[in-house]
Order: sequence, then structure tokens, then C-alpha cells
Amino acid sequence: MQFDAELLLLAMAPVFLACIGWEAWHLRRTRPGARLYSWRDTLCNAALALMQQAADKLAWLAILPVYAFFYDHYRVHIWQAGWLSFALLFVAQDLLYYVFHRCSHRVRWLWAAHVVHHSSERMNFSTAFRQSLMYPVAGMWLFWIPLAVLGFPPKQIVAIVLINLGFQFFVHTQAIGKIGGKFAWIEYVFNTPSIHRVHHARNDRYIDRNYAGVLVIWDRLFGSYVDEDLREPPVYGIVEPLHTYNPLRATFHEWASMARDFASARSVPDKLRALFAPPAWAADYHARRMAASTAHTTLNDNENNNKAALSARRRPWKIL
Ligand SMILES: [Zn+2]
Ligand SMILES: [Zn+2]
Repeated sequence: MQFDAELLLLAMAPVFLACIGWEAWHLRRTRPGARLYSWRDTLCNAALALMQQAADKLAWLAILPVYAFFYDHYRVHIWQAGWLSFALLFVAQDLLYYVFHRCSHRVRWLWAAHVVHHSSERMNFSTAFRQSLMYPVAGMWLFWIPLAVLGFPPKQIVAIVLINLGFQFFVHTQAIGKIGGKFAWIEYVFNTPSIHRVHHARNDRYIDRNYAGVLVIWDRLFGSYVDEDLREPPVYGIVEPLHTYNPLRATFHEWASMARDFASARSVPDKLRALFAPPAWAADYHARRMAASTAHTTLNDNENNNKAALSARRRPWKIL
């Protein structure tokens, strides 16, 4: 029987669930007051994972022929199956993941899908389950097309994408501290829980840092690396918090917000910014609109008060 690469993450589900069980038990014993797990948050995360897996299974049907097209017509090399080609595929995809992930934090269209992964204010193994079924719509798959051009068959591309995501499950935990001593070198090469906690934080010094998938060398090379400072614990979540455990709202809230901003923006540049500017533009735009509407309300209130005063002067019995 041939192993279906698209089901890799579902096949690993027992390992993931065992880790979640161990972490919840361990944290309850070691940090009883911290409440790092909540049933509602964990169930929401699990629902998001199942929704994303179902959508991905369908999406691959449409995406695989696209990779096959580039592989058949534009590949620059044919690789012999073996460890060398696997290592090259792994490193190339991990670099592309870094590019995709960094773009996902800087371009609102991609952030609309990726925000799901960041909108919980908790950080534990189950946070890794927070994925969006909208990734195929946002265009995550476009980032892997270069792998087909490099000469890697479509099924191998799907497999390496899922292996990378599978690895990332293990960096979503507060149960493992910074790695020191003779293993400290690991944090120079690989993404680790400490490095990824920084990525999920919204503290000024941590936000939009540490985009690594498996290898952290890209962050160190391209200047996006920040160390976890034990004096400043990460504050998890997003700048405009989302107070819901509803997986559908978690999936679509940013798309809805983006559509509203696109509709309300007055100029074409602002409409384009609503779709493609960094997410910080949206937070600023919302703050400006809120300030304008408050000023408008105050103005209206003043106007109404003036009208009432005028009318009271004209009809003094009204104030009796
Ligand atoms: Zn991210
Ligand atoms: Zn994460």
C-alpha cells in the first residue's frame, strides 16, 4: 500500500495528542496557578486543525496539477532519489517557508489566513493546531512552485511541506526552557520552543521576529532573530485581540475586517493598503476611524445640545 503524503499530519495525530496530554499534566503539576490550558481554547484549536486538514485535502487536488505543470515544462534539473536530493529539498523548502512566513506577517492578504495561528492568548502544544482553512485561498501554495522548477516531483513537495509543519508542532510549548550547556548550539541551527515563543509574542521587542520553520539560520542571516529575554516574558496573542473560541469567527474575522476596510477606504491607494499593507496599517486605520467617529459623535452631541438650548430658548416651557 502506498503511503499518502497528504495524510502525514493526520497519521501523526496520536503523537501530537500524547504530547498535549503530557504537557497539560506536567504544567498542572509544575505551574498549577498558571492555567496554561483551557478546554475551550484547546477544543477551538482542534476544530481549526480538522477544518484545515479537510480543506487542504481538497486544495491539494487542485494544486498538484499546477506543480506538475511547472515540473513537466520548466524544471531545470532531474534529481536522483536519495539523501542528497532529500536534503536539498528540505533546505530549499525551509528557506521558502521562511519567505512565506515573513510575508504572512507583512502583507495583510496573507496575514488574514495566518492570524488564526496567532490569535490565541495561550501558548501550548495545541496552539500548533491553530491553522486556517483559508491558506489555499491566500496563496500559500504559490511559494512552493520554485521547488517544482528546481526539479522536485509534486508529491515530494507536498510531503516536505507537511514534514516541516509536523516538526513545528514540537516548538509550541512553555514546558521546555531555553537550551543551554553543551546543547546550546541547537538554538543557532534549529527553531526551538524558546525561539518560537518569541514569535508568538506581541511585546514590542518580540513582535514580527523569528519566522523560522525548522532552521533558524534564516532569521540569523536575514536579521529577524531575537533572543527570548527571561526578564521579559512573552505576552501571547495579537495586537487587536479576538475574544472568541468560535473556530469560524477565528477563521474569517480578519477577512471580514479586510473587506470592511476595503469598502470604507476612500482612495485607491488606501483600498490597496487595506489588502496588501502590513497588518499594522489596519490597526492604525481602525484607530483613526474610531477617533474620527468619536469626534463626529462629540460634534453631533454638541450640535444637538446647541439645538436643544436654542429650542429651549424659543420654547421656554419645554425645559419646565
Ligand atoms: Zn507567524
Ligand atoms: Zn507557531
